[in-house]
Amino acid sequence: QGQRAATEAGHGGLTVLAGPTAVGKGTVSTYIRDTYPEVWLSVSATTRAPREGEVDGVHYYFVGPTEFERLVAEGAFLEWAVVHGQNRYGTLRRTVQEAIAAGKHVLLEIDLQGARQVKAAMPDAQFVFLAPPSWDEMVRRLRGRGTETAEEQQRRLETAKIELAAEPEFDVTVVNDDVKRAADELVSLMGLTPHARPA
Ligand code: 5GP
Repeated sequence: QGQRAATEAGHGGLTVLAGPTAVGKGTVSTYIRDTYPEVWLSVSATTRAPREGEVDGVHYYFVGPTEFERLVAEGAFLEWAVVHGQNRYGTLRRTVQEAIAAGKHVLLEIDLQGARQVKAAMPDAQFVFLAPPSWDEMVRRLRGRGTETAEEQQRRLETAKIELAAEPEFDVTVVNDDVKRAADELVSLMGLTPHARPA
């Protein structure tokens, strides 16, 4: 039954969500993890250290650099990338393939480099670009973090500008004006019915 639904969505059951840094991909995927158990959200492997509250096997598989290298050498990754110039992140090929084969609605939340690799490997997947409501809002969100120096913020804005230019590579754009609304739109694009929410 799930298989039919995922296949009817027309993308072999796989949706990839990517977009610029600080656009709120993490927030949207966290909302989906908490609200939509019918979405199979891929758990990536990463070399970065867990943040407070993050659980191994739930948010990420936290692995050391040697283990990550071993997985790369084995061809275990559908895609992998160095994100923000330091840590490595990768999608495990086998778990994703098994979920697709089982008819699950699979969602990958990855960076742009990773999305391009998946597009090369699985062009039939659905590629969704998460965009900020506006450039001004993007600047506001980047500055709002308050944890970075002016120089670092400037560097991130430059990166964001380049990343925004990737939008035409995607099948569809979802604007992250509101996390719940954006998540519901994404879920609809995946061929699922968004849950009714209290007003
Ligand atoms: P964070 O460290 O804040 O959890 O994630 C940082 C960035 O890594 C986000 O842009 C996220 O989309 C990206 N990311 C997370 N998992 C993967 C993955 O498996 N592959 C790639 N290419 N990027 C990922």
